[in-house]
Amino acid sequence: MKDFIIVGAGLAGISFAETALLHNSTFTVISDKSQNSSIVAAGLYNPVILKRFSLPLDAAKHLEYIGPFYKTIEERVGVQFDFNLPVYRKFASVEEQNNWFEAADKPALAPFLATDIVRTRYPALPSPFGFGEVLHTGYVDSVKLLDAYHAFLQREDSLVEETFDYSLLTFDDGYVSYKGIIAKHIVFAEGFGIHANPHFNYLPLDGTKGELLIIKAADLKLDAAVNASIFILPLGNDLYKVGATYEWYDKSPTPTEEGKKELLDKLNELISCPYKVVAHLAGIRPTVKDRKPLIGTHPLHKRLHLLNGLGTRGVMLGPPMAKELFESIRSGIPVAKANSLARFKHIAT
Ligand SMILES: Cc1cc2nc3c(=O)[nH]c(=O)nc-3n(C[C@H](O)[C@H](O)[C@H](O)COP(=O)(O)OP(=O)(O)OC[C@H]3O[C@@H](n4cnc5c(N)ncnc54)[C@H](O)[C@@H]3O)c2cc1C
Repeated sequence: MKDFIIVGAGLAGISFAETALLHNSTFTVISDKSQNSSIVAAGLYNPVILKRFSLPLDAAKHLEYIGPFYKTIEERVGVQFDFNLPVYRKFASVEEQNNWFEAADKPALAPFLATDIVRTRYPALPSPFGFGEVLHTGYVDSVKLLDAYHAFLQREDSLVEETFDYSLLTFDDGYVSYKGIIAKHIVFAEGFGIHANPHFNYLPLDGTKGELLIIKAADLKLDAAVNASIFILPLGNDLYKVGATYEWYDKSPTPTEEGKKELLDKLNELISCPYKVVAHLAGIRPTVKDRKPLIGTHPLHKRLHLLNGLGTRGVMLGPPMAKELFESIRSGIPVAKANSLARFKHIAT
């Protein structure tokens, strides 16, 4: 008997798999490629929500946790995917500068907002009011991470690449069983794919579509990610990720002309050098209206668990939410209310 079946191998699923490994637990991961939020993700991690100058719950603690967590994976799979990278907020006015300094004075934000205005050196991205630097930021190249982790799981014979058929799952108080795999628990981490899951689709996971471009711009020469009306993230070799859109109504997984136009209009206002669009990607972020994760154990079935709702911050939330869920399953103590699926009433479907 395995300890876990894990459904989904995006940032959530692999965070749980790695957490299980760190505790010598055994598992099989079952995943298809129906959702691609984790593959499309820019991968930035930044503890501060710059729009509102706020820190999400436990952001400092989560940031501290993800560094060593991703380092352990890098060593396990032999691939570097976590890179330190400054994030510069472009100031549009003196008022924005003042708001920044006011925020930087607050004790919770002070460790994360530098108090010198950065007057840089990007001729192709003029910023007369300068930039504010967010500290302790970086990005995870999620394609590198997922490719390397999936290959590792395959070598370990722990990955089944297929669509999970919910009708074949049986469970009782002692174990769960799926196509001959018997385990103590099953953890669902399907991102927006939760809507096909009859056990958890009563939960209000709305999903927010995001589109993103990859451009090549030889004269842009950024050595930091720039955050303005959109972000521009340098990938090396003159390639940049440019994103992202937030669309609440269209839940289709495909890129759109409207999304591309929105990004290009904003990009053209920001930069003054030539560029070429080399890719256009889209994915559905697994978002919940109150912007909190959705984790925990099914209210009626104690062997069924959920790791979802990572929203716009899968890189920072995946590992600590996996840990919280793992510890809850092991101890039988429910997860903290703030992140728990128990904040929503169970509706039998
Ligand atoms: C444009 C864009 C930009 C983003 N930028 C950032 C960023 O800069 N930083 C950041 O932290 N986050 C970012 N995000 C958010 C981040 O991508 C998500 O928080 C994260 O990827 C969610 O991971 P997940 O594993 O929950 O879901 P997913 O990545 O959707 O993974 C779920 C997996 O489960 C599989 N699955 C689903 N149903 C089934 C089934 N029935 N059977 C088998 N497998 C199944 C799917 O195919 C998929 O592999 C961005 C998202 C988008 C769309």
